[in-house]
Amino acid sequence: MTYVLSSSIERLKEKIRNIPNFPRQGVQFKDITPAIGEGQFFRLIMTIFISRYQKKKIDKIAAIDARGFIFAGALAHSLGVGIIPIRKKGKLPYKTYELPYKSEYGEEILTIHQDAITKGESILIIDDVLATGNTALTAALLIEKCGGNLMELGFLAELCDLKGREKLFPFPCYSILQF
Ligand code: AMP
Repeated sequence: MTYVLSSSIERLKEKIRNIPNFPRQGVQFKDITPAIGEGQFFRLIMTIFISRYQKKKIDKIAAIDARGFIFAGALAHSLGVGIIPIRKKGKLPYKTYELPYKSEYGEEILTIHQDAITKGESILIIDDVLATGNTALTAALLIEKCGGNLMELGFLAELCDLKGREKLFPFPCYSILQF
């Protein structure tokens, strides 16, 4: 078990930049680039994720397009497990399952390769930000459609006012930072 000082978490939180009205009016965009752009903070994020998941039974990590790939790739490498891209429509080349959804700032369709999961595999979903929860819920439903068991959804940051966690219930949900 790795213990992380609350002062380190506070310093990490300060590295998440708020951009009002991006990409559209009314959205408070959490820009993670200052945090991932500094080695010590990217390492801190990964240390926290690795410490949470290294003893859990995880067969594969599903990464949500696009910023989820940043953390999921590093985590999959550390845990020695495979990675499944969950992508916007039109990006995956093989046969896909697809589901439409509404994100905090637009209508989208998420897709997954039909053969990405062997039935019963334990899957962890990773993304950068949990906002309304629609994206993550859609990803969770795609995992179930492929026959996977969703073990947890993990996020760098959670926008608590948008109540995404409630939307995801009863799927287990974890976030490093809460705003
Ligand atoms: P949602 O479906 O509303 O939970 O939106 C989550 C997805 O959209 C994640 O993949 C985030 O990268 C992105 N996103 C939505 N809202 C924000 C926000 N305010 N700041 C940063 N990313 C966001």
